[in-house]
Amino acid sequence: MQKAGALYIHIPFCVQKCSYCDFCSEPIGNYDAERFVRALCAEIRQRNDEFGMVDSLFLGGGTPSLLSEASIRSIMQCLKDVCIFSPDPEVTIEANPATLDEKRLRFLREVGFNRMSIGIQSIHANELRVLGRIHDWAEAEAAVHDAGRAGFDNISVDAMYGIPGQDAGAWIETLRRLIELKPVHISAYELTAEPGTPLFAGVQSRRYELPHEESIEEMFYCADEMLSAHGYEHYEISNYALPGRRCRHNMTYWQRRPYAGLGPAAHSFNGLERSSNIDDIGRYISLIETAQSVAAETTVLSDDDIWKETVFLGLRTIDGVCRAALSAEIWTAMEKALQNERLQGLVVTDAGSLRLTQRGRLLSNEVIATILSGIEKHLRAQSAAAHPDSCRFDSPPARNRPAQQQPFGLSQE
Ligand code: SF4
Repeated sequence: MQKAGALYIHIPFCVQKCSYCDFCSEPIGNYDAERFVRALCAEIRQRNDEFGMVDSLFLGGGTPSLLSEASIRSIMQCLKDVCIFSPDPEVTIEANPATLDEKRLRFLREVGFNRMSIGIQSIHANELRVLGRIHDWAEAEAAVHDAGRAGFDNISVDAMYGIPGQDAGAWIETLRRLIELKPVHISAYELTAEPGTPLFAGVQSRRYELPHEESIEEMFYCADEMLSAHGYEHYEISNYALPGRRCRHNMTYWQRRPYAGLGPAAHSFNGLERSSNIDDIGRYISLIETAQSVAAETTVLSDDDIWKETVFLGLRTIDGVCRAALSAEIWTAMEKALQNERLQGLVVTDAGSLRLTQRGRLLSNEVIATILSGIEKHLRAQSAAAHPDSCRFDSPPARNRPAQQQPFGLSQE
C-alpha cells in the first residue's frame, strides 16, 4: 500500500445545478456548509496515515470557491496541521467566475492556493443558458484578469464543445477569446448528455439538439489546431497546456500514482486498491459525526485490472503507454491487437511506447476499447494454445468485465 502524494477534496456545493451536471453537488442552500466542513476536517484527520509527502492538493467539486472565508481557512489549516507538503506543491481550487472578485482571489492566494481552475465553458450567452451556468462572459473575463492581479500565474480555464445550438464558428470564437486571456492551461471538454440530467431530458424530448458528429469532429480539430498554434501542448485528450504547465494533479491520475480523495463521492487509489466514499452528502456528514466509516466500496485490483488501467490511462496522454509499464506478454498481445485494420491511422507505435494519433484522440473511447478487447482476445488464444486440454469454462470471466475502464473519480478539469 502506497501513501498518497496527491489529495483531492470534494466540496459538493454549487449555487445551482448546471443542466448537464451529474457530479455529486447540490445547491449550497440545502445544507449547513459549516457543519459539512467540520465533518470534512474530521475525515482529513482520521485518514492522515494515508498521506505521504503531498505534492498536489486539489479542492474540486462542486464550487469550492463558494465556501465562506472561514470555511476555506478551516480546511486549509486542517490540511497544514495534518499533512507534510513538498517544498513546491501545486495547490488548486476550482471556481465559478460568479463567485470570484479580486478580494476573494487575494484571500485564496493568501491561504495557500497557487493555481486557479476557472469554469468558463463558453463566451456565448445562449450556450451558457443551455448549460444552466450562473455567470456570463464579462464575469468570466473579469475573473481571469482579477486572478492575475491577485498573484495567480497558474490559471486554467474550462471550455465546452458540443453544446446544443453551437457550431464551429461559435466554438472558434470561444477559443479565440480564451486564448486572448493567456491562461497557461485550457481544458476543452466535449459535452455529453448524462442520463438523469435536465440536459438529457431536454435532448430526449427534442427540446435540445446536440450538434452532429461531423460538427463535433470539426470542433475537436479546431481546438487541437488553434491551441497547438498558440503553443499549447495537447497533453491529454481534453487538456492543453503551455510548456511545463501540465496539471500536476491530473497527471497523478493518468500515471496511476496514489491519491487520496476526501469528501462525499471522492475516489482514492493506494496502488493496490481503488475505493470511494458514499455520495450522499447528508449521510456523509452524519456518519462522520457518529464516528462511522464513509467508505462506499473498495476494489482490490487484479493483474488484469492493472494492465487494463495502464493501457487505458496511458493512452489518454500524449506520452502514451510505455513498454516498460507492461509485461512482455501483454505488450506482445497488444502488438498483435494493433494489427486490427480498424486501428489504422489511429495509433502510432515505436520500440518504447504506444500513442494515439490526433484522429485516435478524437475517437479515443472506441480506439481504447478495441485495443483492450484485442489484447484480451490474444491472451485467451495464447492461453488456449498453451493449455489445449483445459476446460473452456475455467477461462477467466473476461466478458464480465467492461472492455473500457472508466476514469476513477477524476475531477472535471
Ligand atoms: S457543473 Fe460544476 S458548477 Fe455546475 S453544478 Fe456541476 S459541479 Fe456545480
